[in-house]
Amino acid sequence: MNQWMFPDVEKITKQPTKAALDYQHRFTQPCLLTYSDNTITSIFEGTGIPPAQHPLERQFIMLRVPMTECGQCQSTEIEVIYARFDHPLEDPSPGEVVCAYEIFCHNCNYFTYRKYTP
Ligand SMILES: [Zn+2]
Repeated sequence: MNQWMFPDVEKITKQPTKAALDYQHRFTQPCLLTYSDNTITSIFEGTGIPPAQHPLERQFIMLRVPMTECGQCQSTEIEVIYARFDHPLEDPSPGEVVCAYEIFCHNCNYFTYRKYTP
């Protein structure tokens, strides 16, 4: 159970990769469901929320996708500012389940975006 997935994509940047550039001002809440088609795709965005409080954290952990640490400095002083979960209801084909998230690190101020296809 400690065998975490490795991301297909990891981007460590000074600017957000997936979150809006103005995410700190655009949103008034830490984490909001900003897109949902009720079957496949959910996207959460906001000003930032600790991983343990994120609505997708439990599902991601069950898929062995960690929202753990900054990719730049390995700090756990992070907040999730974007998360996407694609999960077809019936028999997903390889690549159809997608977990992705972007975190902001309060220690080094870098953004880390990771995408997984469990
Ligand atoms: Zn960091």
